[in-house]
Amino acid sequence: MSQLTALISVSDKTGIVDFAQALHGLGVKLLSTGGTAKLLADAGLPVTEVAQHTGFPEMLDGRVKTLHPKIHGGLLARRDLPEHVAALNEHGIATIDILAVNLYPFEATVAKPGCTLEDAIENIDIGGPAMVRSAAKNWKDVTVLTDAGQYAQVLEELKSAGRTSDKTRFACSVAAFNRIAQYDAAISNYLSAINEDGSHSAYPAQMNSSFVKVQDLRYGENSHQSAALYRDLYPAPGSLVTGKQLQGKELSYNNIADADAAWECVKSFEAPACVIVKHANPCGVAVAATAAEAYAKAFKTDPTSAFGGIIAFNRIVDKAAAELVVKQFVEVLMAPGFTDEAKAIFAPKANVRLLQIELPPGGATPWLQGRNHGDSKRVGSGLLLQTADNHFLKKEDLKIVTTLQPSAQQLDDLLFAWTVAQYVKSNAIVFCGEGMTLGVGAGQMSRIDSARIASIKAENAQLSLKGSAVASDAFFPFRDGLDVLADAGASCVIQPGGSMRDEEVIAAANERGIAMVFTGVRHFRH
Ligand code: 5GP
Repeated sequence: MSQLTALISVSDKTGIVDFAQALHGLGVKLLSTGGTAKLLADAGLPVTEVAQHTGFPEMLDGRVKTLHPKIHGGLLARRDLPEHVAALNEHGIATIDILAVNLYPFEATVAKPGCTLEDAIENIDIGGPAMVRSAAKNWKDVTVLTDAGQYAQVLEELKSAGRTSDKTRFACSVAAFNRIAQYDAAISNYLSAINEDGSHSAYPAQMNSSFVKVQDLRYGENSHQSAALYRDLYPAPGSLVTGKQLQGKELSYNNIADADAAWECVKSFEAPACVIVKHANPCGVAVAATAAEAYAKAFKTDPTSAFGGIIAFNRIVDKAAAELVVKQFVEVLMAPGFTDEAKAIFAPKANVRLLQIELPPGGATPWLQGRNHGDSKRVGSGLLLQTADNHFLKKEDLKIVTTLQPSAQQLDDLLFAWTVAQYVKSNAIVFCGEGMTLGVGAGQMSRIDSARIASIKAENAQLSLKGSAVASDAFFPFRDGLDVLADAGASCVIQPGGSMRDEEVIAAANERGIAMVFTGVRHFRH
């Protein structure tokens, strides 16, 4: 077999010297562009510069390096067509059999704060993607490598068979086109988000997504639906998809959706917190001095619903917490870590899925970290997008609207209730006290029904609502909802305000001896 030729041109030079060394050892001729060629030559490898090969210098600050018929002819010519081979001979073009290219770091460049349009433009690779496309199109004859993770397999095959298999070349071609599609999507998204005045909008005019498949799921929400999980090409730190499963069965579609709800909620608290989710709604949330205490309180809210729940902690799960949690039937348990003792406690429970997820580096700052990718929802053949509901309410933002002023303790309880309400499906009513939920009313079509359900739940769990703090995710359209809260024993209420009948509702609060604060923002969650 005639000598093989490899063209190597990489921005990310990870592993490239070893790879080239191994190719050289296998008798492969090396061609390379400026920076890469220098690196290989410095490592003592015989390498021909592309400029020397084409007889044309690299020019225009590297914008034109490999855009030459001697390169593209060598990559694109079909070896099985006599006319193609004749054309190569006529023009003195040698075939190129292996192409290793990774592109100018466009994505990393635009991710840097303060990146200018000029920087971005200079980092749009032209010749690299062109070569990758040429090689990927001609996969029957050319092996194209776009990721350092592919080097080993290709070397293995070259070593054992002298050539790569059809299967590998085809897989490399598919990977190459995927990479180019991602790359072009990143460029298009970046450029189409720039407004006329030079500012950037949250969403580009043209939406090209780069999602990477994590896995097929056994089924979707129901067993007759198929489903898969994808993640963003660059997931936000601390997001669910960055987690690692330590044990247990494969996560299901519903597990993942519920786990996300629990994880987003638990990340919102600075203090050790525990969140128990069922059917996408928190059915118990608490903060305490330790993870174990937080769990014990969260469980008390609604022990019936907690059965088969998804449980999230924002602290490492230790022996004390594990000993409590293991007593209940749990589907998924999430935490930034598990002690060895805790792991040993769950080890015999093979069905319990343990998920370890790093908290975002900024700590409990969901409004900055980990939620910045926003939400999407399919509607018919459309796609609805919005930025994340990451409004963070501070005590100073609250407007006290009643004669009765809330105490410092009541304000803390109200803020806790408000944080939980953000993660409860609308209409949401959340009774709280002493750092725990006491009754959660979720997902009702009328606010008054949510209020009734929340108080019934507290009654079922034998929890007293006397003196409790209540959050309502949106305003009360009438005083009747507030009356239900007062009848149940509430002492203070937090709600957005802004109803046509605010005066009626404030008067009702004054009449019933309730302190009420307005937030000015609402937290619908559908
Ligand atoms: P080097 O460090 O070897 O000088 O450059 C390697 C980079 O150049 C690779 O990322 C490759 O994709 C890119 N590249 C190769 N040929 C061309 C070309 O003709 N034009 C541009 N803009 N980039 C190229």
